[in-house]
Amino acid sequence: MIVGNGRPVFSGIAIGRAYVYKKGLATLPASCGDAAVEQQKFETAKQTALEQLQSLMEETAERLGEEQAMILDVQMMMMDDQDYLDSIAAMIQNGASAAEAVKETGDTFSAAFAAMDDAYMQARAVDVRDVSSRVVTILCGGKVGFAMEEPGILIAEDLTPSETVQMPKDKILAFVTRQGSSNSHTAILARIMGIPSLVKTQINLDDGVDGHPMIVDGFDGRYYIDPDEEVVRLMQEKKHTADEHQRQLEAYRGKESITRGGQKVKLFANIGNPSDVEHVLKGDAEGVGLLRSEFLYLGRDSYPTEDELYNAYRKVVEGLQGRRVVIRTLDIGADKQADYFQLDKEENPALGLRGIRICIRRPEVFRTQMRAIYRASALGPVSVMFPMIASVWEVRKVKEMCQTIRDEMAKEGIPMGEVEHGIMIETPAAALVSEQLAAEVDFFSVGTNDLTQYTLAVDRQNPSLDGFYDPYHPALLRLLRLVAENAHKAGIWCGICGELGGDLTMTETFLDMGYDELSVSPTRVLELRKKVCESEVSPK
Ligand code: PEP
Ligand code: MG
Repeated sequence: MIVGNGRPVFSGIAIGRAYVYKKGLATLPASCGDAAVEQQKFETAKQTALEQLQSLMEETAERLGEEQAMILDVQMMMMDDQDYLDSIAAMIQNGASAAEAVKETGDTFSAAFAAMDDAYMQARAVDVRDVSSRVVTILCGGKVGFAMEEPGILIAEDLTPSETVQMPKDKILAFVTRQGSSNSHTAILARIMGIPSLVKTQINLDDGVDGHPMIVDGFDGRYYIDPDEEVVRLMQEKKHTADEHQRQLEAYRGKESITRGGQKVKLFANIGNPSDVEHVLKGDAEGVGLLRSEFLYLGRDSYPTEDELYNAYRKVVEGLQGRRVVIRTLDIGADKQADYFQLDKEENPALGLRGIRICIRRPEVFRTQMRAIYRASALGPVSVMFPMIASVWEVRKVKEMCQTIRDEMAKEGIPMGEVEHGIMIETPAAALVSEQLAAEVDFFSVGTNDLTQYTLAVDRQNPSLDGFYDPYHPALLRLLRLVAENAHKAGIWCGICGELGGDLTMTETFLDMGYDELSVSPTRVLELRKKVCESEVSPK
């Protein structure tokens, strides 16, 4: 039995088999010295890649539609491109290993595509890189993608947000990663999905643990590989107790979220995808307080079209059956990167072109998304909010852009509903000028994850700074109080949608500050409602 520790990001017990997910290796294997053998290795890896792409294409067509699936078809065609194949063969003849030849050829072809004038050809740069890295990974003995046949516990070095969106969510019982931090977007997704997960573990991916029986204890931050009978028994008991606690929370389903002192608060849920609506209903949230819409832009190779976005929002609005959804416009940038945006590499991406800054710089991208949001607003209650606001001029600019889009849509006769326009307060600047900002918008939603990062100057992604990342810091609490006061002075509502909103030790403080809404992981709502209902706080 192997026992290890990690930082838990969601509690619970998972029992299943280990599934090791590996990206391509950092150092490529050298040639065995025989070009014919290396060429044969390439041919076999190419065949495997084609088979993987074929089944991925079928899966994608079913999940995301034919249009998305065609991207993989382009990748398959690339593998038959004679220039590409000739380049690989020539390099192998010159002494390179199959993996080195594919990597080098992929990089060269990708750079050549990226330098072309034609936008379509430029976009192919990503395809060549993607397909080449698939072949390289196969040649290095790693698996590509998440070819999980049965539910299991996913073990990885780390997972990027764009990898997490591609995971077969119904097959994942838990995550265990070597890196990652509890504030990363991957951790946030684990909470939405309600699966026990550990980050910052010492697990060895090369230990031959793939397929072995495993248990993850998300309460104590421990994992067991090949657990002995005693551990299995103890963990099954613990799981039973957790399930029992969950059952007791059912008493709060359908209840109003109101304190003993009579103060009401709305308990909403944070989601990233239309398929998460199922968790919202299961968790009994009163609506969606944060739809992280950028997840619809990740894990793909081209911009989603207006219709694709509209269809995704339509699913959410219809699925919520009259409950409100607050759609946050895309917050790409920093750790959420999509290659096709072709953003310049930045020294400090968290302080760079992200969130609303991208929308202001790329009005066409913003326009497409806003049109889709406004169209969806005809089907049910929709609010929209803008991320990463720092200045009043940004809000005025965005409102002006929104008005132009609405006018243009009205002229086209497209039905739209009333839409509340709000902003996220996640920079210290926005909190400090919240009095002026409140005059411009219908609501505030505080993003405590970024507000903590920017107020304390602590990178939320950096696990080695976890001890310094202190969302209870008095500076943060002063900003939170100020924001609520300024919102209420202006007669608008304010909520919290960062992870701190679901922290039960803070619930009374937030109620006391007068927050009108808390938006948390769907799996957290009933527990939070219990806390609210047991609290004595009265309205001021
Ligand atoms: C936040 O910053 O608190 C927030 C809710 O946004 P995200 O975590 O997506 O950056
Ligand atoms: Mg944020």
